[in-house]
Amino acid sequence: MRIFIRIGAIFLFLCSLIVAQTSKFGIAIHGGAGLIKNLANDKEKEYISKLEEALITGYKILENNGSAVDAITSAIAILEDSPLFNAGKGAVLNENGIAELDASIMDGKTLKAGAVAGVHHVKNPIKLAKLIMEKSPHVMMIGSGAEEFGKMFNIELVDSTYFITKERWEQYLKMKDTLEKHGTVGAVALDKNGNLAAGTSTGGMMMKKFGRVGDSPIIGAGTYANNNTCAVSCTGHGEYFIRLGVAKDISSLIEYKNMSLNDAANEIINKLSQLGGTGGVIAIDKYGNIAMPFNTEGMFRGYYLSDGKINIKIYK
Ligand code: ASP
Repeated sequence: MRIFIRIGAIFLFLCSLIVAQTSKFGIAIHGGAGLIKNLANDKEKEYISKLEEALITGYKILENNGSAVDAITSAIAILEDSPLFNAGKGAVLNENGIAELDASIMDGKTLKAGAVAGVHHVKNPIKLAKLIMEKSPHVMMIGSGAEEFGKMFNIELVDSTYFITKERWEQYLKMKDTLEKHGTVGAVALDKNGNLAAGTSTGGMMMKKFGRVGDSPIIGAGTYANNNTCAVSCTGHGEYFIRLGVAKDISSLIEYKNMSLNDAANEIINKLSQLGGTGGVIAIDKYGNIAMPFNTEGMFRGYYLSDGKINIKIYK
């Protein structure tokens, strides 16, 4: 009898190893949605190669049994460091000509979340959001208080001029393009243990009023993750995303209405359009399905799943 129990236990152990090794995992990212069309060839290549770098970095973390939270944090930090996107270096400027940064992160396993808004010196706001999630009893911190908190954990602080690129400064001086801004970054991931995570980082909207906070650092609006449903990161006209509670609503449609990820994400983008909002979302569900609907001309986006190749797109 004992021998059978032992054989049974060994069999179950081997099965669990096989399941762990074959369970699907992956990451999806975005680099903002908006009036993105006819990019010059070399510019397009620059965007694609940066998105690819972020995807590969996140994917490798997942492949090596890393967590979804770590994968999205690293992928987002790469996009924050790139002047191409509206997050970290290269963020758009507010009415006062200052980069005012927002970010958030959520762990679908614990439903813990961290968010930061209105910071001017944090090189990688996504890392500060993660710190707030992991090391504070709070969800959201703002401005100088958030920066003080980051200092306690040696978060990298920079002079506010670090974020301003020549291109953004000229854009600011000309005060042009005030309706179309894109380049917010975000990531969602499913790790080998079935944990989901989502994160978003942005400079917000070009020429925003100082002190304005968009959807990106608001859990439930710009970012949401729940292991029972999906992980979502949004980009677009934040005020609309806040009013619709976009990210949580997608999760709720799956949870309460049994909708597929694709149907839920499309339903909310339709609602966004009806309200007059523009933008898009990236989402991954607990099975590793991906949805990336948007209602703008383009959205920088891509995914890398364990059972497929890297897929990157900019236009419709
Ligand atoms: N959603 C961001 C905000 O409103 C901007 C963007 O995604 O382009 O701050």
